[in-house]
Amino acid sequence: MIRIGTSKRYPQTQMRDVNIRCVIGANLAGIGDQGLAKLFGILNVPPPIDDDHYSHTVAHVLPSLRAHQQNSMSTAVEEACTQSDGRQLSVSGDGSWQRRGFSSLNGVAAVMSSSTTAKVLDIERMSKKCSTCIGALSIKHVNREKYEEIINKHSCEMNHIGSSGAMEVDGIYRLFERSQRLYNVQYVNYIGDGDAKILPKLLSNPPYDNIKINKIEDINHFSKKMLHRLQKIAQDLKKIKIDGKMGIGDMMINFKYYYRQAIVRNKTNLDEIVKSVWAIWKHKASTDLEPHHGWCSPMFCGFMKALEEDKEYDHTRHTLPLAVMNAIRPVFTELDSRDTLKRVLNGSSQNANESFHSILWSFAPKNRYSPGSIVDVCVALAVLVYNDGDQSIIPVVEPLTGGGGGYHTRVAMERCDKLRVYYEHKKKRKADVRAKMTEEERKQQEEKEQDDDEQLDDSYLPGAY
Ligand SMILES: [Zn+2]
Ligand SMILES: [Zn+2]
Repeated sequence: MIRIGTSKRYPQTQMRDVNIRCVIGANLAGIGDQGLAKLFGILNVPPPIDDDHYSHTVAHVLPSLRAHQQNSMSTAVEEACTQSDGRQLSVSGDGSWQRRGFSSLNGVAAVMSSSTTAKVLDIERMSKKCSTCIGALSIKHVNREKYEEIINKHSCEMNHIGSSGAMEVDGIYRLFERSQRLYNVQYVNYIGDGDAKILPKLLSNPPYDNIKINKIEDINHFSKKMLHRLQKIAQDLKKIKIDGKMGIGDMMINFKYYYRQAIVRNKTNLDEIVKSVWAIWKHKASTDLEPHHGWCSPMFCGFMKALEEDKEYDHTRHTLPLAVMNAIRPVFTELDSRDTLKRVLNGSSQNANESFHSILWSFAPKNRYSPGSIVDVCVALAVLVYNDGDQSIIPVVEPLTGGGGGYHTRVAMERCDKLRVYYEHKKKRKADVRAKMTEEERKQQEEKEQDDDEQLDDSYLPGAY
């Protein structure tokens, strides 16, 4: 005879410890109930809870998860207020869909703080369909009474009518609208990408009395202007002989990078940003006979570095012909104006939003449809993990299972946090080294790894303290 033990039942409920852990674990691992069934099968243990019990358990754990999620977001709001010395905050906002493209039925809109360690402040799950409404349709004509009962009793997941494209605008707007009620704060600076439709809505229907919301452009998006303008000039000059060669060649990627760096390094000081951008032009136009490195910094300028180390510096390999520099000068004049650059003053990026979304969709994979309640579970887990690290799941598990969370749970979550901190440090170190490289070294490095320079200032370290 084979005896199969099951876990203890938590007092006062029909819920078993193992089933609650299954729901949390399946979503945290991003495998869902079907993945769980496969895992159990290969592990040669009896199948996990069936579909009905699974949704039942989801409904049971959700309120708890939500409470912890709200707690984490409220704490993040207070942190942001302390950092910005008041209750008017700069936030970055972004929407993202469960599925790629605009056919998605579920999406989220989130605002994040732009503090040193960006955190999720508020989030809304948006759904175009409700799984209960759809499910109930099957009995609509067979048992009208039961159908009405289900429809009247359920809390509908559908909270968005209209295109998936409008979901982001709607969602972000809701978050702005409720910030005073929820946290007693106002989001006064909004960091979003250049073509976002959200700002017109925030300006035409101001969510706060007597406050005009200020748009700050996303640095990554903004610095691409440099690339696009230069590409256009290069295209125009393609067939024209400049300095003995055809066209101006391709040195555009580097300029975008330097431009971005000039903005990031001087973040809050408009004069310094303007100066640093112009320094790029002067630096590249320098020759041995006419060096113009007065505004350069030894941090990135090989000439200054050589000067500091009392070494010789040869301009020939770094300089661009004056004719080329003159051809691209209008781009610098345009993109180095105070008017243009004040849009990225205090600049920040949506990098944090992107990395949060990637955590979220690793829990609720983009390739399978999940009902709104499952997305809600994943949203709560993702907020907790992103804001406070994997170990913040333990206080959720503890009361739900009526135990101490479990030895192995604690060890595993601690390990997850350590691992991520390790990878983040590694990534940061790489970025630091790169920021200190001279142009030549960086070029070699870039060719070697073809890395994406837009990920550079991610400062995501939950669970590190
Ligand atoms: Zn419904
Ligand atoms: Zn220089």
